[in-house]
Amino acid sequence: MITAKSAWMDGGLVAFDKCNLHISAFGLHYGLGVFEGIRCYQRTDGTSAVFRLQDHIRRLFQSAATCGMQIPYTPAQIEQACLEVLRDNGLTEGYLRPLAITGAESLGLGALNNPIVTAVFAWPWQPPLGGAQHAGVKAQISSFVRGHANSSMMKAKITGQYAQSVLAKREALRLGVDEAILLDTQGYVAEGSAQNIFAVFGGQLFTPPTHAPILPGLTRDAVITLAKQHGIAVVESSFTRDSLYHAEEVFFTGTAVEIAAVREIDGRPVGAGGPGPVTRQLQALFSEVVRGPAMPAPHWITGV
Ligand code: PMP
Repeated sequence: MITAKSAWMDGGLVAFDKCNLHISAFGLHYGLGVFEGIRCYQRTDGTSAVFRLQDHIRRLFQSAATCGMQIPYTPAQIEQACLEVLRDNGLTEGYLRPLAITGAESLGLGALNNPIVTAVFAWPWQPPLGGAQHAGVKAQISSFVRGHANSSMMKAKITGQYAQSVLAKREALRLGVDEAILLDTQGYVAEGSAQNIFAVFGGQLFTPPTHAPILPGLTRDAVITLAKQHGIAVVESSFTRDSLYHAEEVFFTGTAVEIAAVREIDGRPVGAGGPGPVTRQLQALFSEVVRGPAMPAPHWITGV
């Protein structure tokens, strides 16, 4: 259970235990809510900094626009709320969860005037995948398919859409592996349950393009930037499941997992069956950016 001293809700800090949402809230029934997942890191110089705060909050507002939801605060106010929550809870490192959800009034599907409930909370971060992302995780092609571009709004983080990710993740765990790889409706590799995917072919880094049904992840973008800065060629292009079986390396990227090596797909070892050199190089570069000592572009790092 997540515990905290306080959260920010509808304009100010509130005791965490008092942050309630009514059972008739529209978003609980129909999944019309938007959210973000953001990391704050303690850096090697002892300071704490949030990674790509403005970019995450911009995406939160873009997700809301996709849903026709008006968040009744400015992006700058939500950014400040994130920092306030970290400070008030004494978190030098943690995971931030901004959430805007359609609240209670009408439960008619066409309701337009329900209030939007806006909240931010944070908690100390436990690495997912059992911390196995450095040793490498096992993945399986999912029986769930990322939706058609006109049925799933994959560029938005909409709460209701995550039922699909949860089902895919549960299926993977039931099959005895760590993660799911979802294909798109054309059969091309799309992404993980909540991660983007990269593969190394012939020393070049490949990742599905943003017109595929994927979330354009901020970690994905950071990895592409770092790879190009360090002379690794990046190709944004679709590839098939069977080409993954021949990849030299495969890894997932996401705020939660950072860069997680994939060591096995559908029972077949990836490369030598452990993190390859490109994965390890990018993991090291990414860690230096988020934790220091590297000083990335100022808008990537917001001091707490
Ligand atoms: N795809 C999906 C579906 C996700 O939920 C996430 C996590 N936000 C990602 C990819 C990775 O995005 P990011 O690197 O911005 O966390």
